[in-house]
Amino acid sequence: PAGGRKPRLNVLLAGPRGFCAGVDRAIKIVEEAIRRYGAPVYVRHEIVHNRFVVESLERQGAIFVEELDEVPDDAPVVFSAHGVPKSVPTEATRRNLFYLDATCPLVSKVHREAEQHFARGRHILLIGHAGHPEVVGTMGQLPEGTVTLVEDEEQARLVAVPADRPLAFITQTTLSVDDTAGIVAALRGRFPEMHAPAKEDICYATTNRQAAVKAIAQRVELMVVVGAPNSSNSLRLVEVAERAGCPKAVMVQRGRDLDLALTARLASVGITAGASAPEVLVEEVLARLAEHFDIAIEEVVVAEERITFKLPAGLQQA
Ligand code: SF4
Repeated sequence: PAGGRKPRLNVLLAGPRGFCAGVDRAIKIVEEAIRRYGAPVYVRHEIVHNRFVVESLERQGAIFVEELDEVPDDAPVVFSAHGVPKSVPTEATRRNLFYLDATCPLVSKVHREAEQHFARGRHILLIGHAGHPEVVGTMGQLPEGTVTLVEDEEQARLVAVPADRPLAFITQTTLSVDDTAGIVAALRGRFPEMHAPAKEDICYATTNRQAAVKAIAQRVELMVVVGAPNSSNSLRLVEVAERAGCPKAVMVQRGRDLDLALTARLASVGITAGASAPEVLVEEVLARLAEHFDIAIEEVVVAEERITFKLPAGLQQA
């Protein structure tokens, strides 16, 4: 800029943002498995939906594959944080593979709920996004035809259910809190007797990150969400920001992805990160902004998170 003085930019950091306890645990499981058993350690599906994390684990000796048949008989294999259909551990056991399950305990909790509903003879409506690995994993806990996916309010109004069985709903853990409330209300209107989760299936990390974005959405002209296009919770943060009144929200995977044409002439930018995005990527975005602006950072924290999850028994560090 003329005169060498950079324009001022107020940066609001959403808190909490970034890594959740389930992602942190999943990454540690891969790292600890490599340390104990030596490289290579196979990982079925991206351990968490973030390229930067995947590439750094690859450098340490992880090999990512989509299916179990790509894993040799004599190497350990880790299942991703999103959870897997029952057929996957069954097949691993049949092949005598040594496997470690990095499924987030909060996803496993939803799996157990699904099994309990099934055991009580209930038909299950799963609210979630078709094709997402968590949805594939949750549906795969039970026999085909016992779980029906509901993606939005329109499907909630139209979905056909068996007439002879009680109903229950469960959800993906990384949904929009507000959209899900609308879908549940639409289902309740049709099926008032439907059983609900004892405690919400949308996890604490998803809920807190959305609340943090809402808290700053109206105070900034642009929201930058650090995350990946296949990360459900990151996509939801973009939507939540715009719906909460932020004029524009964009997703970036790395600092270099931020289009500076968007920030020119702005006085305020908000930054958050999805649950699978490491803080170092937020720092990249800040560094990039600092090249062009005199930035003043304010962090707005709506919730403290102290939750951590233990590693699987075989991997716990002394
Ligand atoms: Fe677990 Fe929630 Fe993190 Fe998913 S977003 S890994 S459910 S804590």
